Amino acid sequence: MHPIIEDMQMKKIETTMENLRRNNMEAVFAKDKTEALSYLRGYLSPGCTVGVGGSVTLDEIGALDLLRSGSYNFLDRYAPGLTKEDTKQIFRQSLLADVYVMSTNAVTETGALYNVDGNSNRVAALLYGPDSVVVIAGINKIVPTVADAVTRVKTVAAPANAARLSCPTPCTRTGKCVSMMRTGDDEICSGCASDARICANYVITGRQRIPGRIKVILVATPLGF
Ligand code: SF4
Repeated sequence: MHPIIEDMQMKKIETTMENLRRNNMEAVFAKDKTEALSYLRGYLSPGCTVGVGGSVTLDEIGALDLLRSGSYNFLDRYAPGLTKEDTKQIFRQSLLADVYVMSTNAVTETGALYNVDGNSNRVAALLYGPDSVVVIAGINKIVPTVADAVTRVKTVAAPANAARLSCPTPCTRTGKCVSMMRTGDDEICSGCASDARICANYVITGRQRIPGRIKVILVATPLGF
């Protein structure tokens, strides 16, 4: 990467971290996946109970392997052979975990997190419950404002996740939310009427009341969708 572009990216990350801190969230910079994993390890105590939100990013940095190492009480939603009821119980137990680990659909340079959830176990844990929430986000998740975050979810995150989960929604066919095709429909929560719709709750985290409860690890490389 050209040093000027690198410098511009670093400025964007620094602005984002500064504004996250202003909103009572911790923010750290990781230059790569290894450093991101090392930060995550630092936020976990031996034996602590950990839940996770569905995320490609966590898999990409090796977070799931770390959590399965035996050093933690990992509420593993991906364990083989789980029944629907088992998964439901893991999601419920995760709301009382010591630490919840997730990515985010977007993080704004103005210092907010933006997440759209279907089942909504992930946003529920983000909002309240676990004492500590660790959010890991690649540089591709950083956008200037909440309006850009909304567009990012409708044109990148939701269509890609719907495809990953094999959901027969309009966006898996067209690559963008059906609401983007309707002239003048710029409502945040406009979407499809599919039973498989993965967008149900639209959550903007503008401030964390408990200082430092949310820790954001911003990684200099692209991760997830
Ligand atoms: S509302 Fe439906 S079409 Fe729009 S992004 Fe979500 S799942 Fe896709």
